[in-house]
Amino acid sequence: MEITLQQTESLRRMLETPARRIVIVSHTNPDGDAVGSSLAWRDVLVRMGHRVTCVVPNRYPYFLDWMTGIDGIVTFKTDEKGVAASAIAEADIIFCLDFNAVSRLEILSDTLAGNTAAKRVLIDHHLSPDPDFDLMFSYPDSSSTCFVVYALIEKMFGTQIITPAMAEALYVGMMTDTGNFSFSYLTPALYRALAVLAETGIDIPRIHNNVYNAYTEGRARLFGYAIDRKMKLLEEGTVAYMSLLESEMRRFQFQQGDSEGFVNYALTIKKVKMSAMFLAHRKFIRVSLRSRGDVDVNLFARRYFNGGGHRNAAGGKSFVSMDDTIAHYVRSVREFAEAGGLG
Ligand code: 5GP
Ligand code: MN
Repeated sequence: MEITLQQTESLRRMLETPARRIVIVSHTNPDGDAVGSSLAWRDVLVRMGHRVTCVVPNRYPYFLDWMTGIDGIVTFKTDEKGVAASAIAEADIIFCLDFNAVSRLEILSDTLAGNTAAKRVLIDHHLSPDPDFDLMFSYPDSSSTCFVVYALIEKMFGTQIITPAMAEALYVGMMTDTGNFSFSYLTPALYRALAVLAETGIDIPRIHNNVYNAYTEGRARLFGYAIDRKMKLLEEGTVAYMSLLESEMRRFQFQQGDSEGFVNYALTIKKVKMSAMFLAHRKFIRVSLRSRGDVDVNLFARRYFNGGGHRNAAGGKSFVSMDDTIAHYVRSVREFAEAGGLG
């Protein structure tokens, strides 16, 4: 990740006018990185004297409820007073964090597109960002958006401005997007950043406990059910998939975020190189894909599920029934394997 002086100077100029009206938006189904980067970046901007509103399209998972300042984030889906819509309409600057295309905002896309006057700044780590931003901090070689925010803070203000609350927020994103520090891009620079965050005195075991050991009983039982009853293997045990219907989710009192980590679990099987999760929603099926090593699920998601993401973690959508979605996956995996996609 190399942030140039030209980029930071452009951002500095945008922020030098006092009391700018700023909106920070992040993606649908906001995760630890989306929320963590939004909270930390909000604190930076508020410290500079700007007026900041954080908006997410739908609710963040309940295991992030403990994060400092999270109740200030406006959830567009349930925002009856229209706080998000008016903040977006009046914004001078809109920061887009942890996503690469406005379409990823789904129900919030049109509202955002409605403000054509605001400057748009992207801070992200996904591949192939849309080009229509006024300023872009796009680093697909960064393990999280929180690490990009950290690098921006370091370069523009110095890490001494990082408070324990900001450090916690940044740590959450770095931890969750790296799968608890086990995926790719675990660079020395990331560990140097973590050391600086640790120096603020944050309680790191408490953060891990708050995020990973805060599930409901229903979620634990759903997990067992999904692995035992719903996980299927293809291609001589090298490709996995799992599906959950709405009726199955209801049976285990499903809450937003409960299926987090399910798709990764199949990759704990030594032979499995690629894993998919199909989660039914009212209007479509959400597809999550994970892989190991050179198996490129970003490519797979783009080619077969109209989606994208990163090489080893991607997603998309399907607008046909669960059975048809699975049949499409099975066929697509075969074609992908024949083209050498599974190595
Ligand atoms: P998850 O499986 O955690 O929902 O998503 C994994 C990754 O895939 C995320 O980094 C996310 O940005 C990307 N992703 C998920 N769904 C979509 C989608 O519908 N379209 C695109 N372009 N990317 C997606
Ligand atoms: Mn991220």
